[in-house]
Amino acid sequence: MSTDASPSLTVLGAGPAGLATGFYARRNGLPVRLLEANDSVGGNARTLRLGPFRYDTGAHRFHDKNDAVTADVKALLGDDLRRIDAPSQICWRGRRIDFPLAPYDLLRKLPLSLLARISWDQLSIPRVSNDADHFREMAHQSYGETLAEQFLLNYTEKLWGADAAQLSPRVAGDRLEGLDLKTFVLEAFGGAKTKARHLDGSFYYPKHGYGQIAEATADALGRDRIRTGARITSIAHDGSRLQRVTVNERETMDVETVVSTLPLTLVLRLLDPAPPASIQNLGASIRFRHLRLAVLGIDRPQLTPNASLYFPSEHIPFTRLYEPKNRSPNLAPADQTVVVLELPCHRDDDAWNQSADALREAAHALLVAQNLIEGDEVVAFDHHAVPFAYPILEVGAEDKAEQIGAYLDGFENLHRLGRSADFTYTHVHNLYARAKALTTRLAEAPSGVPSARQT
Ligand SMILES: Cc1cc2nc3c(=O)[nH]c(=O)nc-3n(C[C@H](O)[C@H](O)[C@H](O)COP(=O)(O)OP(=O)(O)OC[C@H]3O[C@@H](n4cnc5c(N)ncnc54)[C@H](O)[C@@H]3O)c2cc1C
Repeated sequence: MSTDASPSLTVLGAGPAGLATGFYARRNGLPVRLLEANDSVGGNARTLRLGPFRYDTGAHRFHDKNDAVTADVKALLGDDLRRIDAPSQICWRGRRIDFPLAPYDLLRKLPLSLLARISWDQLSIPRVSNDADHFREMAHQSYGETLAEQFLLNYTEKLWGADAAQLSPRVAGDRLEGLDLKTFVLEAFGGAKTKARHLDGSFYYPKHGYGQIAEATADALGRDRIRTGARITSIAHDGSRLQRVTVNERETMDVETVVSTLPLTLVLRLLDPAPPASIQNLGASIRFRHLRLAVLGIDRPQLTPNASLYFPSEHIPFTRLYEPKNRSPNLAPADQTVVVLELPCHRDDDAWNQSADALREAAHALLVAQNLIEGDEVVAFDHHAVPFAYPILEVGAEDKAEQIGAYLDGFENLHRLGRSADFTYTHVHNLYARAKALTTRLAEAPSGVPSARQT
């Protein structure tokens, strides 16, 4: 079956990147349709329900880093977008250490012997973190060996499922601020006030959960432009242009200009005819990290005041716990709370395939071991898979992704935008900014459709 009357712009996927593309396309006067495999929009930035509780698909916050995008999101959500102050902490040997690391806090909480080693490191580290070859080197250069080994490297290896010496320095994103000697001394001896600069605890968050951003964007662009339950199963091309997409293996649609937000490795597999073997091999050699979430409703008003708790220990399978209520009180009843534990996995890991009961058991055991709950306070449980959570930025993987990107950019009517589409460790505000820029260019091009090579 073939569907006619295709709008000039077809967007594959309705996660944040696809929705933002649709939203700004409409604002720029471009006819657009979105095709989304799931029954709901929002991709990996959704809010889900468990009885009276609501939780996001992983600990999300809206970063106020692009004024124009923040203004657009504020306009979409109005008073429902609130500024939240909730610091995060690291669970370390039974203590809670502020994250990002702050010298004054370390001074109060770490044993003297460790402090002596950390201080010695601060005097001797080279501070050339911009040219490190891999994450281990970058962490040692930025924080010194002791801090890096205790708090960063084990966590990073658990999160990405790879040795820190195999990971690109860019896995840190923009979240890790090194501690130079001056900062360390000033903050260590300057008291609590000076540490505020390091606390990443202030951010925007919507009243009804992070997914409210996606939902409001979908409303604004028009729900009638979005088709859910529409999985792209094939993308036909003639070598220079995409011609048709097949939906759910049976319906074909002609396309003019396409913005794909699907993982770039998936696009390679969907192309018909298939790409050259060399490109397919590149695709097979880059990886994504997936997450499982264990969600527990708890019969007490609050477990911690933190936005997130991090678990660097290699003996704990989970990397992070977050308590949605600390971002918005609307996400749980007044006398109860809900927590979400993130478990990073490769698809062939036992953890990815373990039963819901085993996941619940492991999550419950961790909460008891961390003295967060006693006995049986768990009143509800759910679990959720977050596929393609992170592109694994192994050393060399970005070059491979660039080569794949160059091949895909050879299709003159295909544009890529998204965390997995670009294979970059990017965030929602960046995706909105890029969608805005792309659709402006599309609207300004003489034909209405500049080639991907021009964008
Ligand atoms: C645990 C976690 C925490 C995060 N925290 C933050 C944060 O605090 N702040 C922040 O800004 N960002 C955060 N992010 C990042 C943010 O969630 C992602 O950047 C964002 O979801 C990427 O959007 P996207 O549209 O590129 O991809 P996705 O969200 O993955 O959306 C892709 C969409 O494509 C659809 N799709 C896939 N295959 C097909 C197909 N064959 N046919 C049709 N549709 C298909 C999917 O169903 C999905 O809806 C976090 C991510 C994770 C995993």
